[in-house]
Amino acid sequence: MSSYFNSYLDKPLTYLKGVGPAKAELLKKERGFTTFGDLLYDFPFRYEDRTKISSIGSIESTDLPVQIRGRLGPFTVMGQGRKRRLLSHLEDDTGAIELVWFRGVDWVKSSLKVGKEYIAYGTVQRFQQKLNFPHPEMTPYDPNQLKAAHPFAPVYESTELLNRKGLTVKTRRRVMQSLIEGLASAGIAENMPAYLMNKLNLVSRVKALHNIHFPESQSDLDAARWRIKFEELFFTQWVMVKQNLKHKRKIRGAKFEIIGDAFLEFYNKHLPFTLTRAQQRVLKEIRRDMKAGYQMNRLLQGDVGSGKTIVALLSALIAIDNGYQACIMAPTEILARQHYISVGEYLKEMDIDIAFLSGSIKGQARQDILERLEAGEIDIIIGTHALIQPFVKFKTLGLAITDEQHRFGVKQRAALWAKNPNHPPHVLVMTATPIPRTLAMTLYGDLDVSSIDELPPGRQPVKTIHVRDGQRMETYKFIRNQIHQGRQIYIVYPLIEESNKLQLRDLMNGYERLLEYFPRPQYQLCMVHGQMKANEKEAEMQKFLARKTHIMVATTVIEVGVNVPNATVMLIENAERFGLSQLHQLRGRVGRGAEKSYCILMTDFALSKDAKKRMETMCSTNDGFKISEVDLELRGPGEMAGTRQSGDLGLKLAKISEDQDIVALARKAVNLILKKDPDLMSSAHRPIASYMETEGRSLQVWSIIS
Ligand code: ADP
Ligand code: MG
Repeated sequence: MSSYFNSYLDKPLTYLKGVGPAKAELLKKERGFTTFGDLLYDFPFRYEDRTKISSIGSIESTDLPVQIRGRLGPFTVMGQGRKRRLLSHLEDDTGAIELVWFRGVDWVKSSLKVGKEYIAYGTVQRFQQKLNFPHPEMTPYDPNQLKAAHPFAPVYESTELLNRKGLTVKTRRRVMQSLIEGLASAGIAENMPAYLMNKLNLVSRVKALHNIHFPESQSDLDAARWRIKFEELFFTQWVMVKQNLKHKRKIRGAKFEIIGDAFLEFYNKHLPFTLTRAQQRVLKEIRRDMKAGYQMNRLLQGDVGSGKTIVALLSALIAIDNGYQACIMAPTEILARQHYISVGEYLKEMDIDIAFLSGSIKGQARQDILERLEAGEIDIIIGTHALIQPFVKFKTLGLAITDEQHRFGVKQRAALWAKNPNHPPHVLVMTATPIPRTLAMTLYGDLDVSSIDELPPGRQPVKTIHVRDGQRMETYKFIRNQIHQGRQIYIVYPLIEESNKLQLRDLMNGYERLLEYFPRPQYQLCMVHGQMKANEKEAEMQKFLARKTHIMVATTVIEVGVNVPNATVMLIENAERFGLSQLHQLRGRVGRGAEKSYCILMTDFALSKDAKKRMETMCSTNDGFKISEVDLELRGPGEMAGTRQSGDLGLKLAKISEDQDIVALARKAVNLILKKDPDLMSSAHRPIASYMETEGRSLQVWSIIS
């Protein structure tokens, strides 16, 4: 269908009026744009109305830009060096407002004329009761220009370099204007079926593209945005649902039909508590998958402490009852060992062989484990990624469980699949980073999702407090008090890049300072950070576990899975530097025992809006799902932990957090079409087929198993 090939979208930018080789090069370097399509699909992030002028007297401090008109007052230069700034004011009949420039003082002073009438545009701030206008955009007043202004003038994301090299807002608008002028005759094919457009009241693709850049009215803009969001969500889900169907059709798996001795004996005699309703439901979902004859690919998400381990263990027992082996893989040695210890504890009265394997198990010990594993003498093996090394061979691996999925790469999981040559093992991926349902649906369209959305009974919620640096002494006093009551403390420093020497020094300095306030021998401190060797970390952890030390000073290496029920305080230094999901994970390290626990978020005084929201969220809820909703709002799906690191969904406009209705509609449409006409044979579906053949080919497919 070469006639559908959109040559207009693929045209190099140098063909566009107003974009020469220099600007094209710059756009490529700064924004990665090379074609007409790249520019066309770079939507405005806001629109400004330069037709209105506010009277100066009516202005209040505001986040939205305003436009005022008045006469420029005389300049004064204040301060020295970095504090040097230029002041003036603008005056109309209703009042005056201060203008201030911190940069380009001399240039501004020489290019503006005192006494002349100007239009000033920008955001107004309130500083110590007084309004001021920092770095306003100044244009000499011209009534004609004002008339030519548009109430929805598009504003595009830009960079400092682009602005400096002449691709200003205005130039970009002109470039876009000529791009849009060519649109009508460009022959860009519709990609939605006509009946769907009718039914959902979708404007055409071309009209939407036109109106998202240059809308005439709010309703034009809304219709364009709706159409584009729908299209984005439709095609991402299209690709995922299709892949999911293919996946399910193809891969046969072991049939675990038996619930036998291992499961029943454990369940009836040794299970130390009653499963929560959520645990029971999830276990049922897993059982149903494992006996269906197809390979299970299931994501098990549950908040920290929701009891995923026992679900994993019960699933493993089903595998054993059916004559298979199971493995549990964790991302760090500490975590893997903890699993090994707790599974060993659960199974201590039973005749089930478990083993531990990691890089630190060497020589004869390793050899023995490998031989027994291959002979089928080990039922459950627990370990680190050492488990996926080629020399690790199973007799019959039936279930592969990985904990804390975001630390493992796709390749590593694929290596697990190959461990059973007959058919791949069932796969259960556990994560403590809850993802909102809508996101899970979209991100893991090819994976079934189970959620443990309920905590075991009797948990005391962790109390979370936000304090400023100035309350450090009180905080330390509180910590000493807890230590005197026999409790233990975590103090965490942000060390985002584990390899960054500078930040490591922060941690060391922090540690030195703590030693002054918590002097030996009365208080004992230990420390864990990413640059320590595994056995050193292990030794420090063990001291803390054995209650030989009171305070564990650490970086985020302790983030996942560490279990010390006697620890009741989590103090997070520079909490503003952590993301929400990280804060929540860290908080999950306390509140694991019977005692009341506390999470103290220590921050600077000055916080960004987002940082404030993060602190407020942490203080107001312990619910991981709620937190992940806020996280999603603040950061967008591309940056959420637990999702692919660099990429995004290929969504330019749709927001999973806000557009859940559209997500649901798009999904419904996709499912209906795939059910009725999976191979797109009907002519009504030609637009979808053509689009997928040309532009849709490059669609990013999200999948954690590929
Ligand atoms: P996570 O989901 O964070 O991995 P764990 O599996 O480590 O959580 O469980 C946290 C704690 O809760 C463990 O000490 C476990 O024994 C306990 N637990 C799990 N399920 C239940 C339950 N149904 N009732 C009571 N305690 C439970
Ligand atoms: Mg766990």
